[in-house]
Amino acid sequence: MPASPALFCTRAFIGLGANLGQPGLTLKSAVHALRKLPDSHLKAISSLYRSTPLGPAGQPDYLNAVVWLETALPPHTLLAALQAIESAHGRLREIHWGARTLDLDVLLYGNDVIATSDLTVPHPELKNRNFVLIPLLELQADLRLTYAMPLSSLPAARDHHGIELIASHWTD
Ligand code: ADP
Ligand code: MG
Repeated sequence: MPASPALFCTRAFIGLGANLGQPGLTLKSAVHALRKLPDSHLKAISSLYRSTPLGPAGQPDYLNAVVWLETALPPHTLLAALQAIESAHGRLREIHWGARTLDLDVLLYGNDVIATSDLTVPHPELKNRNFVLIPLLELQADLRLTYAMPLSSLPAARDHHGIELIASHWTD
């Protein structure tokens, strides 16, 4: 029997956030769904963090994490799959930066730079968000935005204000 063709995989990092309903259960369920993505392999999961919300005031705290995915899905297919997982967890998409049951962002897709109307990679807020950079760098400490810009050199990567480690192993 011929061997199945090898899939060409890209290293992608997905940011997870939730602050409505039962965020801990939602993030565990989202990781479960990410494990089942076609043509993809979930390589690693960061610790779970609690963070103070950005955007509109009066929201509950967020839970955040980052996962490392090896995937053969093209970037827009991956985005659509992430949005389907968000929707399956009851996300309503009306308020930008507003409270949400589940937010899944493509943080990095290999070294690709993507600027389309519905997908910007690297994620435009990656540089500024400690609750993204800290779990991301846990998974891969030497990531760079460009050759000259290691993510670990960004001020937000060292800013632990408003972010608290909740658990190192949390998905079982
Ligand atoms: P944020 O994640 O910055 O808080 P939202 O989740 O509210 O913002 O924004 C959702 C929109 O952002 C989606 O409609 C999607 O098309 C767009 N988008 C652009 N780039 C990305 C990306 N890298 N990952 C996920 N969504 C993205
Ligand atoms: Mg988002």
